[in-house]
Amino acid sequence: MSLGELHEVAHEVWAWIQPDGTWWLNNAGLVATSTGDVLIDTCANEERTSAMLEAMAEVRPNSRLRWAVNTHAHGDHTFGNSLLPHDVALIGHENMRRDLERDILLDNCPPFWTPTPDWGNVTKRLPNLVVHGRLDIVGDDSGVEVHSPGYPAHTTGDLVTWVPRRSVLFAGDLIFAGLTPLLLMGSVSGARRALEWIEGFGAEVVVPGHGPILTGDEIAAHIDAHRRYYDFVDASGRAASKAGATPLEAAESLDLGEFAHWPDSERIVLNLHRWCADAEGREVDYGKAFDDAIAYNDGPMHTSVMERQQ
Ligand SMILES: [Zn+2]
Repeated sequence: MSLGELHEVAHEVWAWIQPDGTWWLNNAGLVATSTGDVLIDTCANEERTSAMLEAMAEVRPNSRLRWAVNTHAHGDHTFGNSLLPHDVALIGHENMRRDLERDILLDNCPPFWTPTPDWGNVTKRLPNLVVHGRLDIVGDDSGVEVHSPGYPAHTTGDLVTWVPRRSVLFAGDLIFAGLTPLLLMGSVSGARRALEWIEGFGAEVVVPGHGPILTGDEIAAHIDAHRRYYDFVDASGRAASKAGATPLEAAESLDLGEFAHWPDSERIVLNLHRWCADAEGREVDYGKAFDDAIAYNDGPMHTSVMERQQ
């Protein structure tokens, strides 16, 4: 099994897809411009980021990587940052930079997942180009635009990368294609609002943060499925609040229905923790949220991030 697959999704635009997209297995991308190449995200560990960079070097042997965008702070998209050449300008939202700076998982990952991820020889590297709203990298033939929704969605510091001349949108974790979305560090209502914002780009190709590349009618179908899931979380949160149930109690009594087959379904517990914290106007207790997700899951959550190439 290879660690990932590089697909040219449009002329000189590539997506790095890591099956099966579950915990810690993200997607990334590469866009060629006349002034240099733009990377979108790194991977969770040394092995996976190195495999991606090698695959990209094969299709771009004479190019110079000049910029890298972090779509948000989560480690599956950022822990490989230190493996990039030092002169690559690293781009991130101001809140993303703050959150990665505060991240504790890179130095000491709690036993929330099994196996506990091994990050390899990487160190924390923060963006040195900070985006407050939007940033454009302009090229003669193809450029990229980096946009922020401007409100919490998947996290409080999300960015998408839009390649207008190729009609490709790298959506980061605003889209989980065929997998359970994660809202713990963002907002249920904001993530729902961001779906319409994503539709507004009118992309012909959407590269989600996790899961397969989406084209044509698949894009609207997946966006609709996200909308239904967010409405389900919202309705479940309201019912839990009315009944005085905790997020774990609420999750354990829920029938996930059409969402039950989405991998990482235990995220319902994390998402209800977010819903309840926002409804009550307080901070999320992240430790409690993960402990509850593990209780719901009857053990640490599964990840295949350590799987090695056979
Ligand atoms: Zn994420």
